[in-house]
Amino acid sequence: MGLIAVVQGFKLSVAKFDNFLMVNGLNPTEGYRLFPHEAADVAKLFRAKGVDCEVRVFVPYATGFNNSQYLFVCCDWIFVLAAREIEGELQKPVPPAFEGLRRSLQAESGVSRYVVYDEDMSWTPEELIRRNTAPIQCGVCDTVCSLWEDRMRHRCDEHGISEDQNPLPDC
Ligand SMILES: [Zn+2]
Repeated sequence: MGLIAVVQGFKLSVAKFDNFLMVNGLNPTEGYRLFPHEAADVAKLFRAKGVDCEVRVFVPYATGFNNSQYLFVCCDWIFVLAAREIEGELQKPVPPAFEGLRRSLQAESGVSRYVVYDEDMSWTPEELIRRNTAPIQCGVCDTVCSLWEDRMRHRCDEHGISEDQNPLPDC
C-alpha cells in the first residue's frame, strides 16, 4: 500500500545524513526507508544530541526509480489514506532544538512543508484502525459488533440496507 505523508521539516541529502549517522556509529540509509529499529536508533541519536522533540525521517520512494538522493527530517507529520483536509494542520511552531538540528546538519532547505510519497510502507491508516476497533456500532439499532464485516452483514440482514461494504472514510 502506498503511503502519502504531509510533513513539516527540512530537506537533506542522503549523503549528508548518512555521513552524520556513520560518524555517530549508525548504519547509513543509502536512500532506503528506515526500518523501525533503525528509526528508533536515529530517534535516540537525535535525543542524545539534545533534540527534545519527536523527529521522524521520511525517504521518498516510487517503484521503478532509483533510491532517493534526499530525504526529509521532520518535526511534524500527518498521513493521508485517500483524501484529507489539511487546513489547520502542521501549524505547530518549530521547536528551537529542531531548528538547531537543521543548522547543524547543514540542511539544503529551511523548515517547510512537503508531501512525501512512499510506495511500499506497510501502514494501517488511523481511520481504518478506528473503524475496525470494537465495539463497532450498528448505527441504526443498539447492536454492537466486534468486526466491521459483521456490522455490514448485520445492517444488510437485519435492516435491509444495501450499501458499499468498504467505503473510503469521509475526510
Ligand atoms: Zn442494527
